[in-house]
Amino acid sequence: MKVGILGAGQLGRMLALAGIPMNVEFVLLDPAKDACGKKLGEFINGSFDDKSVLQAFVDKVDVVTVESENISVKSLEWLNEHVPVYPPPAAVATAQDRLLEKQMFAKLGIPTTNYQAIEQAQEFMDYCSSNTQPMIAKSRREGYDGKGQVRINADTDLKAAWQALAGVPMVVEDMVDFDREISIIAARDKHGKTVFYPVCENTHSEGILRCTKVRLNDPMQPQAQDYIKRVMDELDYVGVLTFEFFNCGDQLIANEIAPRVHNSGHWSIEGADSSQFENQIRAICGFPLGSTETRGPAAMINLIGEMPPRDAVLSVEGAHWHDYGKQPRSGRKLGHITLRANNQQQFDERLAKLENLLADRMTPFGECKH
Ligand code: AMP
Repeated sequence: MKVGILGAGQLGRMLALAGIPMNVEFVLLDPAKDACGKKLGEFINGSFDDKSVLQAFVDKVDVVTVESENISVKSLEWLNEHVPVYPPPAAVATAQDRLLEKQMFAKLGIPTTNYQAIEQAQEFMDYCSSNTQPMIAKSRREGYDGKGQVRINADTDLKAAWQALAGVPMVVEDMVDFDREISIIAARDKHGKTVFYPVCENTHSEGILRCTKVRLNDPMQPQAQDYIKRVMDELDYVGVLTFEFFNCGDQLIANEIAPRVHNSGHWSIEGADSSQFENQIRAICGFPLGSTETRGPAAMINLIGEMPPRDAVLSVEGAHWHDYGKQPRSGRKLGHITLRANNQQQFDERLAKLENLLADRMTPFGECKH
């Protein structure tokens, strides 16, 4: 079985790492010459929009998947005429447009924050100036890790805010005063069988995920499972999907979906029976899905901008070191740590140790308090 992955960043890399033990081979296509996943299979350096590149790519593979939702749906549809593409291109089309996504949530009875779709400058000025509560304007497309977003309050220069988003079609949402942010990841096979990972609690800084903690037996698990299942069934989804929510009291408010493996699921490599990456490969190859059972409490700490000293991290029992081999750059995800333990007390002790070790060196981990 040969899988083609559009994108050879860290997600492509971890997908291939999960598939190789099952004798799945990989062809990775990426426009970046130095993509960090390039050594995990046959690497093609080229554009996702170049037909001759896509032809060379598709000729080599049995099935295609993506590591990012920001790939032209036209290219996915074209590839889908040659080999199956999972997730289905129509699902990616919905997930890459915040307005389509919110319209789908409404259709499925999943709550969202109050929002307005906006295309014109005057419309933007009128809407924002007539609302007094804090808001957040987001470009409909291509936003990730807080990019393509502007926060708006009573003091905001609206003209500058409009220009900051370059006047692209956007949604302006009310800010949600949430208790916490959670995500759920699920995998669905070609027959509609779905497996769910436990809800995770996520902390962000400057729009970038810093820390994920697995929440075993979380009270919001049933509601989160219900909502993600509705979305997957609606999209006739195959593969791994992630759903991010704001949790207010006993209510979940949809933020967004990602039609792929997700940063908040990296802990599953060591923390679950089958990782999100393994289940993505199983789903798209038509293999039976693997158990998502967890091996106890776990957390994932993103390593952003610079890497801490490896040996110090590895000296903490239950800590696993993931270095994507990327050049350091401010705000860039370079790797992550998975921390695992057999029980809560052991987990708390190990986490405290890791925090102490890294406290002086890493602001990102400093954000990740209980
Ligand atoms: P997003 O790219 O939509 O996931 O936004 C990045 C981060 O910005 C989220 O994880 C939240 O921390 C914050 N955020 C985005 N939208 C809202 C909102 N409507 N209310 C409160 N916080 C938000």
